[in-house]
Amino acid sequence: MTGQYLLAIDQGTTSTRAIVFGTDGAPVASAQVELKQHYPQPGWVEHDAEEIWTATVSVVRRALANARLKAGDIAALGITNQRETTVLWDRATGKPIHKALVWQDRRTADWCRRMREEIGDAELGKRTGLLFDAYFSGSKIAWLLDNVPGARASAKAGKLAFGTIDTFLLWRLTGGKVHATDATNAARTMIFDIGSQKWDADLLKAFDIPASLLPDVRDSAADFGTTDPALFGGAIAIRGIAGDQQAATVGQACFQPGMVKSTYGTGCFVLLNTGAKFVRSKNRLLSTVAYRLKGKVAYALEGSIFISGAVIQWVRDGLKAVAKASESEAIARSIPDNGGVYLVPAFTGLGAPWWDPDARGAIFGLTRDSGLPQIVRAALESTAYQTRDLMGAMRADMGPKAELKTIRVDGGMVANNWVMQFLADQLGLDVDRPLVTETTAWGAAALAGLGAGVYASVDDVAKARQAERLFRPQGARAEHDGLYAGWQDAVARVRSDFGAKPSPKGLGAGRPRAKAMS
Ligand code: ADP
Repeated sequence: MTGQYLLAIDQGTTSTRAIVFGTDGAPVASAQVELKQHYPQPGWVEHDAEEIWTATVSVVRRALANARLKAGDIAALGITNQRETTVLWDRATGKPIHKALVWQDRRTADWCRRMREEIGDAELGKRTGLLFDAYFSGSKIAWLLDNVPGARASAKAGKLAFGTIDTFLLWRLTGGKVHATDATNAARTMIFDIGSQKWDADLLKAFDIPASLLPDVRDSAADFGTTDPALFGGAIAIRGIAGDQQAATVGQACFQPGMVKSTYGTGCFVLLNTGAKFVRSKNRLLSTVAYRLKGKVAYALEGSIFISGAVIQWVRDGLKAVAKASESEAIARSIPDNGGVYLVPAFTGLGAPWWDPDARGAIFGLTRDSGLPQIVRAALESTAYQTRDLMGAMRADMGPKAELKTIRVDGGMVANNWVMQFLADQLGLDVDRPLVTETTAWGAAALAGLGAGVYASVDDVAKARQAERLFRPQGARAEHDGLYAGWQDAVARVRSDFGAKPSPKGLGAGRPRAKAMS
């Protein structure tokens, strides 16, 4: 090993970034380019894979220049990526045959409905840990094969390659030498058996996807080849890959079973490390691979909230109640309680554990003395309540012995101290905010460090993480539970089956109250 630094490529939904880290985990320099979103039809979302490639090369060069480093100073490179986004390309030319279908793209919803009827969510879940949803790559591969002229024949002839963004970038970075992914990305395709860690022949057959399309699946810290020396003025070893949420799990050093990380950006993603045990959720959470190291899989339960920080964007841009997201904190503090007002931000349906795409947002409990402050506070509170919904489902899946102690948080919204305290109160757990909040990119760099032998084990990675602040639960539990009961009632009312069937256990327990805290 020559270099003293680690480099992360963080290819996200809205931007492509490169960050250079010291081996102590401190960021040294970075560069970023925004990514254009293409919306060819309502519900369709595409990215230009060529644009992603050009941006990747440019940000790596700029990050190295900003750090005044050369390729030879980098011990290893790690890639983390927006998950599920799907590219098919021609193996001979390296050219994508279509724009990338982004994880948010809903065009395969009908295909998923048909497959659910044919195969069933239970069978899919047993193998892949997932549910039939347009979110996952398998449905997007099927769409491309069915809709791009000549694609299926080319695929059958072995001329095409499939990859999520990590795999496409790896192919390009290695000059077409390596067609591989890691277990965390494979786990998001709907065609990978996360128990046996193999592509699932039965699902491939049912989806009519030729196995010749598929990348080799490696550990998250592994030898993924080296970059073409012409790109960055010397070869860089590629030694780590993980999907963004899994990389954040590594970056937050959630290496023990029972450890949880929660990322609060536009939406919110919670991952609970379940260790060597593949826990099948009975509460509509996903089971996934947290990371795979030296052939050993650490599994996770995953829940996602579609609208988290985005509700504050709506408060700013839709409601025009604040000029900046950060102003919401002082507003929440300026009133003693939510005044009985609840905001359910089901703008695009409800995610886990409800999976209700037809639900829509609503504000409940308005009285003559309600105003913007109560609505802003209710918007902030909604993120904590939704996290509690997910944690409740996780606790139920793990059984009574599950011990959840701390939740490690990151993402833009965790700058809000009021929300973090409210979250700790609602969950009854310590909320731990790290000093370095670039946990996703750091996770990719840390995996590369593990792959290159810079770190001997995950314990070395864990040592690099420092808590900046711990928010401990305060106040009376009964009061927090009373507020939560009001939220559960509000959620029951926005769900598309409201009134059609009795609420599931626990829902609707709290009657609407004029003053939640009185
Ligand atoms: P993403 O990576 O999804 O683009 P970020 O991690 O950059 O998101 O977080 C940005 C989100 O955090 C925005 O939706 C914004 O509304 C929210 N946010 C940022 N600062 C605050 C704050 N102080 N209080 C509440 N929400 C905030």
